[in-house]
Amino acid sequence: MPYSAECPDCGNARALFNQCPHCGSDQLPILSSDTVEINIKQDGPYVEEALELLTEYLRKSIEIGIRTVVLIHGYGSSGKGGRIKWAIHDALVNNRYSDRVEDYYFGEEVAYGSPAYHSLLKRRPGLKQYLQRFKEGNSGVTVLLLGTHARSA
Ligand SMILES: [Zn+2]
Repeated sequence: MPYSAECPDCGNARALFNQCPHCGSDQLPILSSDTVEINIKQDGPYVEEALELLTEYLRKSIEIGIRTVVLIHGYGSSGKGGRIKWAIHDALVNNRYSDRVEDYYFGEEVAYGSPAYHSLLKRRPGLKQYLQRFKEGNSGVTVLLLGTHARSA
């Protein structure tokens, strides 16, 4: 993993969200980076569940100081992964997440070395290690820039 999260109570490495698996602490983790990768489709949610999950992830991310989310939603070709991708695109375009997401870049628009790539990198230098993998663009991913003024509810 390109980032790490550490439990403030026991010092062990842990996942971003939920309780510390080592000591059960509910404290928010200490992060090594303000950029995280979230795979929204890993538990195979239905579309509406995925959208609600994203709301929850964004709220928690802002709470722990994350500024950039590399959101993995899969390709829009077919199947459940495809529906989640298009639903997330729709939700972003329709400002469903605008209270927390300041701006977003669809992966297919940020090909390695393109003008969009350079402008995004200027805004979020921490993305460099992620964007190098995009090559000619990666339509399975969307980059979300979280608002610095946004607050958790
Ligand atoms: Zn712990």
